[in-house]
Amino acid sequence: MNTIIDPATYNKWELGHPDYAGLTERIAQALEYVSISPEERESVLRVLRAPECATRVDLPLPFGNYIGWRVQHCSALGPYKGGMRFHAAVDQQLLGLLALMMTLKNSYLGLPLGGAKGGICVDPLSLDPKQLELLTRKFAYGLRYVIGPERDIPAPDVGTDGRIMSWITDTYRITHGGMLVPAVVTGKPTYLGGIPGKGRSTGRGVAHIIRLAAEYFGRPLRTGTTVAIEGFGNVGSVTAEALAEMGCQIVAVSDVGGTLYNEQGLDITRLMTWAAERRGSIQGFPGGETIPRAELLLLPVDVLSPCALEGSVNLTNAHRIQAHLVAGGANKYATDDAVEILMERGVPYVDDRMTNGGGVVYSHAEWVQNREGMQWPERDTLQTMYGTLERSWLRTLEIQHRLGVPLHVAADVVTVEPLAMAMLTRGDFL
Ligand code: NAD
Repeated sequence: MNTIIDPATYNKWELGHPDYAGLTERIAQALEYVSISPEERESVLRVLRAPECATRVDLPLPFGNYIGWRVQHCSALGPYKGGMRFHAAVDQQLLGLLALMMTLKNSYLGLPLGGAKGGICVDPLSLDPKQLELLTRKFAYGLRYVIGPERDIPAPDVGTDGRIMSWITDTYRITHGGMLVPAVVTGKPTYLGGIPGKGRSTGRGVAHIIRLAAEYFGRPLRTGTTVAIEGFGNVGSVTAEALAEMGCQIVAVSDVGGTLYNEQGLDITRLMTWAAERRGSIQGFPGGETIPRAELLLLPVDVLSPCALEGSVNLTNAHRIQAHLVAGGANKYATDDAVEILMERGVPYVDDRMTNGGGVVYSHAEWVQNREGMQWPERDTLQTMYGTLERSWLRTLEIQHRLGVPLHVAADVVTVEPLAMAMLTRGDFL
């Protein structure tokens, strides 16, 4: 069954996920810097505090009963855009938080897109490929009038991939007159209108912003700059590869199994091959010694880049971090209280909204190319991605200088201004 959840029943979103209230509080503070009246500020906040729509899809199947959701947070800037997560920890509250984060990220990057997130509470590894296909198609069928190339454009996230995007595209085709509409999702295989380079886009973007941040904070990357990277999955491994290409020494990387350390720098190309042959695991790699996992965050390196999980920089370690720059690619990798500690200690910190937008810029480029019915040369997409990240970065520095606030607060102001102005100019939200 397909249920539209009445926003009146989830007015308490801030009570849903523990981080929701903190993020809306940050939005409220950033709005203080936008030249609008207190009444207008309150109207904008009221809209941003709860998602515009949430759809729940019940998925009873012979091999189990599942629930999926699509939470559409805000469409002030354009159609909703955000990933689909298949994971055992997915629930409506988590998706609400992630949808809000997508609204903010798209606005920060100046993309004409709103924010959404969806997913199913399931461990995809517990299903065989046929079951996964059936589950995905049934979910996509339930969402057939909720998503669309000018309405809401899903993409892969944790536990989903190009194969799952293909099944969603095909189910949309069958329910909309039989013609392929590639722009309905992004992150597709290239044969269905996907674009090359998408898989590496986030990590490349993270490395690019680290380069700009290192320059800005007065310690430009050079041959031998030392880097520690937490997480060696999609984002961490590509960030490591791109920084190594810039001459950095990646002295430590970790995954869920432990940390590898080599004072002289790990051979990242070999390590990537090693991990690819072992379902992503770096354990047992002969080119480094093993140290306890948590020690990575405390190493005396030039750059620390947490690219694994939410909240890995927190009250237990923020006082002891020795890196000269903290710039991670994982979503919300530092808790708000840990950021305060880093600020008090004068440790340069770059928020994840500033670093990890490369993937969604690529997704936007894929959507644009699908709608144009053509494919740009790969280098054009790459340059568009670097250019978009850089434009937002420069705008953040400009606001920081003007207002004299920390970088992450300036990023919040860059984020909320277009959202507020779009809502107020349009007027119908109020
Ligand atoms: P992934 O699943 O490919 O990789 C995660 C990595 O973190 C794995 O190597 C895993 O072993 C490791 N890990 C897990 N727990 C750990 C722990 N306690 N200590 C050390 N390592 C640990 O995921 P990903 O796609 O690389 O995403 C990483 C983060 O970046 C997530 O927060 C994700 O939301 C965010 N992100 C990803 C993208 C993208 O395009 N993939 C875009 C934006 C943000």
